[in-house]
Amino acid sequence: MKRLAIFVFALLLAPLNGRAQEGKPLPSADERYKADILLVVAHPDDEGGATPYLARAIYDEHKRVAVVFTTRGGSGGNDYSREHGPALADIREQEARQACATLGITNVWFLDGKDTASQNVLNSLANWGHGANLEALVRIVRLTRPEVIISWLPSIFIGENHGDHQASGVLAIEAFDLAGDPVAFPAQVAGASKRLEPYLENLTPWEPKKIYFFSDASDEKQFAGKGPAYSVREISPSQKKPYWRIALEAAKPHLTQFPEDIHRVSKLSDEQLEKLMTDPSHAWWSEPMTLIFGKATVPTQPWEAIFPDVEPRQKEHPLAVESDRVPGPVVDVAQPLRLGLGDPWNFYEKFRQAHKLTNLPTARNPEIAVKAGSVVAVPLIVTRKPGATREITVNVTAPNGWKILSGAGKFLLPDEEITYLRVELQSPEIPEKELKGRQADSILVNGTVGEKSVGEAGLKVLLRSSALPQ
Ligand SMILES: [Zn+2]
Repeated sequence: MKRLAIFVFALLLAPLNGRAQEGKPLPSADERYKADILLVVAHPDDEGGATPYLARAIYDEHKRVAVVFTTRGGSGGNDYSREHGPALADIREQEARQACATLGITNVWFLDGKDTASQNVLNSLANWGHGANLEALVRIVRLTRPEVIISWLPSIFIGENHGDHQASGVLAIEAFDLAGDPVAFPAQVAGASKRLEPYLENLTPWEPKKIYFFSDASDEKQFAGKGPAYSVREISPSQKKPYWRIALEAAKPHLTQFPEDIHRVSKLSDEQLEKLMTDPSHAWWSEPMTLIFGKATVPTQPWEAIFPDVEPRQKEHPLAVESDRVPGPVVDVAQPLRLGLGDPWNFYEKFRQAHKLTNLPTARNPEIAVKAGSVVAVPLIVTRKPGATREITVNVTAPNGWKILSGAGKFLLPDEEITYLRVELQSPEIPEKELKGRQADSILVNGTVGEKSVGEAGLKVLLRSSALPQ
């Protein structure tokens, strides 16, 4: 009875919450959630791509870190116990929280993205509910007010084989650009109202200062000079051990992901561990770790330290800011019919321009790794000016052992401005031992009208013993 009375009293008082009361200080933003760094990654265990740097930032630079996982990691195998699907996602959420807690990170959020086993970023965005998750991420940026966002590099490389990783980078960039805009998701930044209080959120638009990326690309050397580099072997002055050692402890809760590795390293002596983690061919993190500079809303140099106030200013060194991708064939923009590589490459080209990120590294030539023996698709986009010819011939060149399944030959396009085409090839079945050290194969698609080329789309394809579906 007493409890009910308190409840009724609380209900009567409820409309006063958030209202100015004369003489009383107004509530300020919740400082417990203020972050210096917001890490935005796709899966539980992805944080491991940045933990050697985060350890430095947390323990020796006293930075506050918050983490957003855009999925709970329910797909993929469980190598530790028998749970799968949603139950595995429940376990992985706990593993991720424990891993973050090892570094003292307790502000950890999970979005509703579904773990999507594909290499195509657009599959992930479609399966996640792109808009709703972007809204949720913008809310977290406004709540945590990070100085810096760090995320996966949204770019396709051999080795960077997960569309979810790239999709978390896409969302991070979009949130970076939108969170400071008061007309983006305006209900989040509207003052709480007396009526219908649950709806308006009373957050403040927030523009982070800088955004950086890391990548799973097999060749990490290509990112040298694209942003500040941090030693993972340096000894933490406060923790008296190398940053990789702190990161290794933070990786150990992920037993459903790589139990054999965790058990193996757990049995090693300090000397054996040191030997393993300083051997470039076996170390879990490359030395040094480069955080690829994206862009900034404050004056900065790409190679400058992430927090120049606490870190010694780095010596300037030449930085290839412009994309060093080999230019494609010269295409006359006035050309009435044009053929090029379609999505997701076409999406990334437009995305980088729209978000002023044309400096982001991309593969010198479009590349992908697939399972040997699988069907490889080369997506194409044909743009056509009104009145232009509708006849196009698609020519495909592939190395020996490859078989063209569909998409080559003469086509009559619909009377429309954009048509998507697709060439499919059967890749050769190659025994696992022959795949080791194999170079990528080049597939070249060329469009012609009569004798004249109207564009090319090339794709370097590395055949592997296993890979996610394209
Ligand atoms: Zn992942």
